[in-house]
Amino acid sequence: MGEPKLREKTWEPAYEEDVLKAWRAEPDLYRFSPEPGQPTYVIDTPPPYPSGSWHVGAVMAYAMIDMIARAQRMLGRAVLFPFGLDRNGINIERTVERKTGKALHRWDREAFIQECRKEIEAIGNGLLELAVRVGMSADFDHTYYTDSDQYRAFSQAIFLELWPKGLFYRGERPTFWCPVCETPLAEADIDYEERPSNLVWMKFPLTQKGEIQIATTRPELLAACRAVIVHPDDARFSGLQYGDMVDLQLFRELRLEPVKAIDEHGKMTDAAGPLKGLKVEVARAKAIELLRGGGFLEKVEPIQHQTPICSRTLNPIEFLSSDAWYLKQLEFRDDLRRLAQEMEFRPTRHRQLVLDWIDSLTIDWPISRLRYYHTEIPLWYCKKCGETLAPPPGKYYRPWKDPAPFAKCPKCSSKEFVGEQRVFDTWMDSSVSNLYLTRYRMDPDFFAANFPISLRPQGREIVRTWLYYTMLKSWLVRRSKPFHRVFIHGLGLDARGRAMHRTQGNVIDPWPLLKQHGADAIRLFVAGETNPGDDFRISEAKIGGAAKFVTKLWNVARFISSFEEPEAGKLQPSDEWILAELNRLVESCRGAYEDLNLFLPANRARDFLWNLFAPHYVEMVKARAYEGDTGARWSLHACLRDLLRLLAPVTPFSTDKIWRSVYDGSVHAERFPLPRDGIPASRADFTDGLLAFNADVWKRKRDQGLSLNVELPGVEIPPSLKPFEGDLRRMHHLA
Ligand SMILES: [Zn+2]
Ligand SMILES: [Zn+2]
Repeated sequence: MGEPKLREKTWEPAYEEDVLKAWRAEPDLYRFSPEPGQPTYVIDTPPPYPSGSWHVGAVMAYAMIDMIARAQRMLGRAVLFPFGLDRNGINIERTVERKTGKALHRWDREAFIQECRKEIEAIGNGLLELAVRVGMSADFDHTYYTDSDQYRAFSQAIFLELWPKGLFYRGERPTFWCPVCETPLAEADIDYEERPSNLVWMKFPLTQKGEIQIATTRPELLAACRAVIVHPDDARFSGLQYGDMVDLQLFRELRLEPVKAIDEHGKMTDAAGPLKGLKVEVARAKAIELLRGGGFLEKVEPIQHQTPICSRTLNPIEFLSSDAWYLKQLEFRDDLRRLAQEMEFRPTRHRQLVLDWIDSLTIDWPISRLRYYHTEIPLWYCKKCGETLAPPPGKYYRPWKDPAPFAKCPKCSSKEFVGEQRVFDTWMDSSVSNLYLTRYRMDPDFFAANFPISLRPQGREIVRTWLYYTMLKSWLVRRSKPFHRVFIHGLGLDARGRAMHRTQGNVIDPWPLLKQHGADAIRLFVAGETNPGDDFRISEAKIGGAAKFVTKLWNVARFISSFEEPEAGKLQPSDEWILAELNRLVESCRGAYEDLNLFLPANRARDFLWNLFAPHYVEMVKARAYEGDTGARWSLHACLRDLLRLLAPVTPFSTDKIWRSVYDGSVHAERFPLPRDGIPASRADFTDGLLAFNADVWKRKRDQGLSLNVELPGVEIPPSLKPFEGDLRRMHHLA
C-alpha cells in the first residue's frame, strides 16, 4: 500500500474552480468535431432570456440539460451543445424603462436601442458566468445572441421565405392588448390568475317593458356594449358576463363594429363619456357610483375572478382593436397534431401539453409588436399606392431607419416608400433556433445531416410558446417535425411547493449554494430528486445531503487510490459478486441515460456506492487488498472507474478531479463502461444473503458493546455463504 494518489484529505466545493480551469485549458474536451462515421447529436439548448439573475431552479434546469449532453457524449455521439442568449424583447425594454423612469414610446428609438444593448450586455454576462460555474459543457466559444445582426437577419430571412406563400396577413381587429407594454399580444403571452374583483349586477331597462339583469366585472366598458345575448332557455335573462375571449369571437361572428372604450395606454376614451381620461381601475369604481346614482345598480358581489394578465408584466390585459400582422396557424392545427405524434416525448405524458394547447387556439398568431428592441419586420409600403413590398431574404433589414431597398414600386412605379415601424414578437426569433443551429440556408450538407434536431430540452412553462411555435415554423418552412425528441423537465419550486417569483420573495440565489455545497451537490440533488418531467421542491438540506455523498465518493476513491491498479486480477468469489452487481448497475444506467432518464443513474449509482460497495465489499476485501491480492485490487479499481464514469454526467467536477488524479486524462473524454465479460451474473444472487449476514454480525457486536474490529467468537458462516467465508471471517474478525 502506498500514498493515496488523491492527496487532499477531503472534497471541497472550491476544487470545482480548479476543475473549471482544467476544462478551459483543454478546449477540445467538449468540442463538436465528429469523427468520420460518428453519429451526431444536436441539442436545441433553450437560449435563456436574461432578465435579472437566474434563480436556482433555472440553474438546475440547465444542469439537467448538461447531464443529457454529457451522457450522449459518453454514449459515443458527437454532441453539438450550443449556448445562446435570447436577448430581444420586452423584458429588457421594461428594465430600461424602469431604470430611467421613461416609457419606451417617449424615447428616441436609436437612443433607446443603445440603452437596451448596454443593459443586456451586463445581465447576459452574469448569466453566462453562472452557466459556466454550474458545469455546463456547452460551446461557449460560439455563444449566439438572438439580437445579433446575424440572428436577426436569419429570423427575417425565414419570414421572407414564407412571405410569398401568403401565410401572413394584416388586419385591424380586436385583440389582446397589454396597456403597460402598449402592444398587441398573442394567446401564448397571456396567463390567467385568480384575482379579487367585483361582480356588478345592473339593470338594463327594456324598450317594451320590464328589465333584464346583467352581471359584469367590467362595468366601465358599458359604452362598448353592442349587444346582449341571452340564452333562449333562460327565463331569467341573466348571468352573462362580458368583456372576455368569447366576446372577441362574438364580435367577429356577428360582424359588430367594436367600440373603442379604452386607449393604448389603458385610459378610457371619449366613447366612455363621463369616464373619459380615467385609468381603467379608477373608471370601474366611478362606473359603479354612476350606476348606483341612476338607480341601475342591483348589487355588487365580491368574487375571485380568472383575470387574463400579460405574462411579462403581470398586468391585466385588455381587448383592443388594433392593426397587426398575423401568421396563419389555425388552418395547420391538424398538421401540428400529427407532428406532435411523430416526436418522442420524455416523459411521454407531456405530449398532451402541446396537444391541449393546439386544441385551445382560437385566433391566428399576431406577430407584430409596437416595441423597439426586437427584430424588425422587414417590409416597406409604397407611399403612393400602399403596396406592401418585401426585400429578398439574407440581409438584416431595419425599415424604420434604412433606406428602402427598392428602385420603384412594381405596381405604380412610385419611388417613395415608408418602412414598417413594427417588430416581431420575440417568439418569431426563438422559434427558428433549430433551423439556425442546423445551419439552414447556410450549410446545406450540415442541415441535411442534422435536421430534424436530435433533442429539444425545455421547461413545461414554454410548451405553448417555444415548443409550439417551433413546430409551427418547422412545419411551414420544411413540412417536417422540428425534433426527434422533446425532453420536458419539471419546475424547481420552493420548499413549500410554490413557484419562485421575485414578487413572492421566495427566489433562491444559486451563488451562496454553489459556494457552500458546490455545483456537484446541486446537480446530484436535482437528478436524484425528481422523476423525469415532475416538478421538484428545492431543499437546501437535501443539497447538503448530496454534498455528503460527494464527500463519500471522494473518501472511497482516496482509499482505493492508495493501491496500485494491477493489469489483471485473480478474482475471488467476493470480487465476482461485486463485479456482477457492477454489471447490473452499468446496464441499467446506460439504458436510462439513453432514455434521457437522469433519476435512475443518480440514485442507482449512489445506492451502489453508499449501500453496497463501501460498507460491504470494501470491508470484505480490505485485508486482501493490503496484502497485495490482485483480485481485490483489480476489482476495487474496476468499480471506481465505472462509478466515476457513470456519475460523470451528474457530478462532473468531483469525478473528473478524481479521475485526473488516479487515472489518465479526463473522465469526460471517456465512454460509458460496458458490462464486463466473464463475470457470472448469478453471483449477484448472493447479495441479500451477504447483506443480511453482515448486518446480523454488526448488530451482535453492537448489542454486546463490542467495537467492530474486536474478535467475535461463535459465529457460524451460513452454508450458502461458504464461497465468501475467508473474506467474511477477516472482515468481522470471527474467531
Ligand atoms: Zn405587458
Ligand atoms: Zn405603389
